[in-house]
Amino acid sequence: MDLKKFVRDVPDFPKDGILFKDLTTLWKSPEALKEAGKKLLELVDNHQIDVVIGIESRGFVFAPMMAVELQAGFVPVRKKGKLPAQTLQAEYALEYGTDVLEIHTDAIKKGDRVLIHDDVLATGGTAAAVVELVQRMGGEVVQCNFIMELGFLNGRGKLQGVPVAALLDY
Ligand code: AMP
Repeated sequence: MDLKKFVRDVPDFPKDGILFKDLTTLWKSPEALKEAGKKLLELVDNHQIDVVIGIESRGFVFAPMMAVELQAGFVPVRKKGKLPAQTLQAEYALEYGTDVLEIHTDAIKKGDRVLIHDDVLATGGTAAAVVELVQRMGGEVVQCNFIMELGFLNGRGKLQGVPVAALLDY
């Protein structure tokens, strides 16, 4: 199945000049949803995973599905101010200014083997901030896992030392 056919390109969203890769069209297809979930798991070659992290909010679609299959727990990483209990924070660069991501301080134990999942790897700033959070908590990042990678933005450059895998390449 050619999963790229299910990705909708939306020009000039959220602002002029950005070609937004819309995955809602892939999620809506029962066949593509199932196939993408299966293929994402095939990217993970070591199945000894304790925790699957999903990055808010588009990482929340597949991360729990993968966690169930890997017999791991699911942990959300969210934008500042959304998680209710005590958090650890990491700042990351946006095109203009910075933003903050948070994780609950009790979500990762020292030595946990962690899979990080998000929908799109673009500049890599978001995923790099999550890698930093996991490592500060003593977790081991087994893989950063994405549905798609915008290779021309070289997000992998910010994720050196961490295995990176993506289903679709643009
Ligand atoms: P980055 O930190 O630059 O790697 O950006 C990653 C985040 O931005 C991901 O969570 C994506 O959801 C989102 N993103 C960035 N660029 C795009 C794009 N062209 N289409 C869809 N989502 C994008």
